[in-house]
Amino acid sequence: MIIDSVKSLDFERNQTEDVGQSMYQLMERLYPICRSITGNGFRETLNIIKSYIPLEVQEVPTGTEVYDWTVPKEWNIKDAYIKNERGEKVVDFKNSNLHVVSYSVPVNQKMSLEALKEHLYTLPDSPDWIPYRTTYYKESWGFCLTHKQYLELPDGEYEVVIDSSLESGHLTYGEYFIAGETTEEVLISCHSCHPSLGNDNLSGISVGVFLAQYLNKLPNRYSYRFLFIPGTIGSVTWLCHNEAKVTNIKHGLVLTCVGDGGKFTYKKSRQGEAEIDKIAEYVLANSGKEYEIIDFFPYGYDERQYCSPGFNLAVGCFMRSPHGSFPEYHTSADNLDFVQPEYVADSYHQCLSILHILENNKTYLNQNPKCEPRLGKRGLYRAVGGQAEEAINELAILWVLNLADGEHSLLDMAQRSKMSIDVINKAAIALLKHDLLKEKTA
Ligand code: ZN
Repeated sequence: MIIDSVKSLDFERNQTEDVGQSMYQLMERLYPICRSITGNGFRETLNIIKSYIPLEVQEVPTGTEVYDWTVPKEWNIKDAYIKNERGEKVVDFKNSNLHVVSYSVPVNQKMSLEALKEHLYTLPDSPDWIPYRTTYYKESWGFCLTHKQYLELPDGEYEVVIDSSLESGHLTYGEYFIAGETTEEVLISCHSCHPSLGNDNLSGISVGVFLAQYLNKLPNRYSYRFLFIPGTIGSVTWLCHNEAKVTNIKHGLVLTCVGDGGKFTYKKSRQGEAEIDKIAEYVLANSGKEYEIIDFFPYGYDERQYCSPGFNLAVGCFMRSPHGSFPEYHTSADNLDFVQPEYVADSYHQCLSILHILENNKTYLNQNPKCEPRLGKRGLYRAVGGQAEEAINELAILWVLNLADGEHSLLDMAQRSKMSIDVINKAAIALLKHDLLKEKTA
């Protein structure tokens, strides 16, 4: 994504429908898999992602100490159900993997309805939806069901089976690194540990995969590191095992909840005024879409770890509707109807715009700072009757020359001049070609 890639970005914009459909197809493939923070569902997910991008898969053994945490036992599940006295399955894992509390220990016993109820979770206010529950760090078990199902359970004895295993194994994550011109990195992180849930987290995975595919085709200024990790324990593990590399990370985005029809939401990094924060705000403000910028707070997704005080990375969180703000969140209603191709495509394009500006957001030095250079003799003034859309904007030229004092980035120039960053960028490219501008290097 070097300076003259504006056209390729425009080209991508025209492919919105196709890219949206392709991202949706990936979500459809991933949706049925029973993922958790460890286990074969996570591996299967990474294998599918591998058919899109050359992911490196890492396995970290159970019991590995990572800062104040320990990599947990690996969880796998084959089947689970609750049978009534007539031998009918009244709750069946095969119908929805949300029916079992994630990380449930194995169970095979008969019990009364009263005893069973201690282990049942429902949503009385949304009686048709199955809640999503986990018990990662406490050995327990449970079933989630619709409140309607729950109310229909008669008194009696039930056979309860959870054919799961919770044993020493590994925590698995996927990493894809794209080397750029510099060792400075942009981190794109997606938690990938939720089972059949669309917006949280399949939409983020899908946008991440397609951004990686796109960036892989370009000569980038920055290096890019994509992480597909289990939430919290994954980022804690990655940071702990890669502490030496962390200083290379200059910018980053956590992607999640990017497939619903809600407005865009950007949660700033802990730094608050980082370059990525300013660019995300600029892109959304110029998107013509509804959006909200929120300040960092220490709750949410893996930005909590990247923005912990010992790292304090410039990593924000890009979302549409934030977690907890939509009723479908962490329920069976966050399904493939709730996420739509047009919304993931739109999120993808906003992210591309952010990365595009980041790639180009350089600071320049005017090589003729004492009075204005004569632009006419260099052909930098439009010829009469020239094609307006091809022309370099003269006012933009003057702004760039005036603000190329080593203190203003392209974004600063765009904001100060109230001109679009593409127009400012074109002016800067023209001035570079005429040696009137030089990139300021650190
Ligand atoms: Zn979640």
